[in-house]
Amino acid sequence: MTEKVVIIGSGPAGWTAAIYAARAELDPLLFEGDASQENWDIGRPPLGQLAITTEVENFPGFPAGDLNAYLDNAIDEKKRKYMAPHSGHGVSGPELMELMRQQAVNFKTRVRTEDITSVDFSSRPFQLTTAGGEVVETLSVIVATGARANYLGLESENRFKNRGVSACAVCDGALPRFRDKPLVVVGGGDSAMEEADYLAKFASKVYIVHRRDELRASKIMAERAINNPKIEVKWSTTVDEILGNDEEGVTGVRIRSTKDESQTEVLEASGYFAAIGHTPNTDFLNGQLETSEKGYVCWTVPFRTNTSVEGVFAAGDVADDNYRQAVTAAGSGCMAALDAERWLAAQGHH
Ligand code: NAP
Repeated sequence: MTEKVVIIGSGPAGWTAAIYAARAELDPLLFEGDASQENWDIGRPPLGQLAITTEVENFPGFPAGDLNAYLDNAIDEKKRKYMAPHSGHGVSGPELMELMRQQAVNFKTRVRTEDITSVDFSSRPFQLTTAGGEVVETLSVIVATGARANYLGLESENRFKNRGVSACAVCDGALPRFRDKPLVVVGGGDSAMEEADYLAKFASKVYIVHRRDELRASKIMAERAINNPKIEVKWSTTVDEILGNDEEGVTGVRIRSTKDESQTEVLEASGYFAAIGHTPNTDFLNGQLETSEKGYVCWTVPFRTNTSVEGVFAAGDVADDNYRQAVTAAGSGCMAALDAERWLAAQGHH
């Protein structure tokens, strides 16, 4: 059987593409990825990066606050009577993703909990190979595999992975080894601020190690972190080495000044969290789509999700190193499904 459209990836872009493709009666098949420890460890779990985050405050439609009072005021009493009371909390990343998944399944998206490990876009129908070695043939593809967190690449990061080294505060921050202990977060962007704020709930102190004297993070998130009495920013420093031993795992982090490289300092810490940006999940494409310098899939037609191979579309963070938001990923997932539908129709397949 040749599929009409296969969606690879299960973040907001993938599920939104599935919802639209299913409603357009394209009978989509979606590969959500393998829930293996390896995929979790490298930050590429099913349901994507939102599966490993906490509150999502900026996805439209999910405000936090006293929404019952707001709804009582804003909506006609007769209509309001039929609405269930709102819980008051916005939405968390994992909740949002489970809801998107359910919505796609409700419209009969077929879901496979498996990785696609290689593709062949050189002939038609395209061929996608699963981790189990099965070959799936398809007329069109939507690549929505997202991006994953980077590490600095120190040998000591590897040595202490899962023993104090992490790139996901939300997954690991509440573990006993991090409670009431000093911790280190490296990075100066929104991720670093978010991780530091989250960790400060459990830790005795959180150091943010940033290589410049100015943060990259948005003003609101930077201020929140800087004003947190438990957080201290170590300006103009980089992480030199993660210190520890086999018994205890991480015990400290040696940092070095970027202004005077002879200056080092050892911060006592039981955890080290990398928050230094992302790498798109494109290995399985094996260079068959044009990518940017940073390795993100290129959109080749302005305001469309087309890639360098006709019939292959890309959506979400795998193609976007600029916006990288849940809502923009969802938006481009919708665009990719519409682009695929129109392309299939133009080929006489739909
Ligand atoms: P980012 O904005 O690219 O920031 C990466 C940070 O890591 C930068 O401060 C960078 O330093 C530093 N860095 C990179 N490589 C480094 C290295 N080798 N050594 C030391 N430091 C290094 O990445 P991000 O924070 O993951 O954010 C990505 C996107 O997601 C952004 O658009 C952000 O707004 C969004 N985001 C939003 C939220 C939210 O709204 N709730 C939360 C998280 C992320 P320099 O500044 O010196 O380059």
